[in-house]
Amino acid sequence: ANGTTAGPVRRPLSAAGKDGARRYGQRFAGRLVLVTGAASGIGRATAFAFAEAGARIVAVDRDAEGAARTAELARLLGAPGAWAECVDVSDEAAMEKLAARTAEAHGVVDVLVNNAGIGVAGPFLDTPPEAWRKVLDVNLWGVLHGCRLFGRQMAERGEGGHIVNTASAAAFQPSRTLSAYSTSKAAVLMLSECLRAELGDRDIGVTAVCPGFVATGITSATLFTGVPEEEQRRLRERTTRLYGRRNYPPERVADAILRAVHDDLPVVPVTPEAHGLRLLARFAPRL
Ligand code: NAD
Repeated sequence: ANGTTAGPVRRPLSAAGKDGARRYGQRFAGRLVLVTGAASGIGRATAFAFAEAGARIVAVDRDAEGAARTAELARLLGAPGAWAECVDVSDEAAMEKLAARTAEAHGVVDVLVNNAGIGVAGPFLDTPPEAWRKVLDVNLWGVLHGCRLFGRQMAERGEGGHIVNTASAAAFQPSRTLSAYSTSKAAVLMLSECLRAELGDRDIGVTAVCPGFVATGITSATLFTGVPEEEQRRLRERTTRLYGRRNYPPERVADAILRAVHDDLPVVPVTPEAHGLRLLARFAPRL
């Protein structure tokens, strides 16, 4: 399901949503966009949408084949250049090498999308410290390494840039079975807001994109591991009620990411329930 299976290379039918990348024409022409977690789901759709808008793409993932496939398809969609990098975002040394290699080969990244993430689910009392460490290593430290290394390059170049971090609606709402995941995403949200305040002077925009439930590998596989049957059923029913038969597609999140970069937006809740939760979180009663 992660699209790594070999097969004839065809131009993807729906790279961006209905009016997504097309709305941006060639607005990102020649820009260098690095997307992590680009081998599947939201990351792949985002790489495609930027490719259609004329950007050069660096597709980063720990899944080498998937990243290579994304780069190949991005070229077919019109990216003037697209390269794949097999890197684990939680590996600091590997990320340092990636940043140096990218700058040398292609120049400073204009748009960084820190999107790689993993899910972990289960009741808090049954979640071992290793599981917490793993999810924080990827979801928080991976984003942090990206912001620090590529943010510094952007700042030193002095021509601005944009960083998008994929948080989640889980950052707005407590959950009974996602304490580690939700905590990692709340940290990404706050990190993004702090960096936005700090890097704004240097013309570097920072966005936290917060999708609700999107139909990708993370939701179908990882996120449900260890979740009691009953809770799984409730989640699935709620999604079906919200979106009808089709789940919310990753291409719509990609659209939101392009818009956020183009319009320099701070926090972007994507799906309808993410919007609702963000509103609730902001209008908490004043005591
Ligand atoms: P996905 O599983 O389809 O994609 C995640 C990608 O990240 C995969 O290609 C995976 O190989 C890669 N990855 C995981 N760990 C990595 C690591 N250490 N180094 C490099 N690459 C790594 O899932 P997705 O839904 O597209 O998730 C993308 C992001 O969106 C994640 O941060 C996720 O938490 C977030 N998100 C997803 C949803 C949803 O409902 N799908 C909702 C809110 C937020």
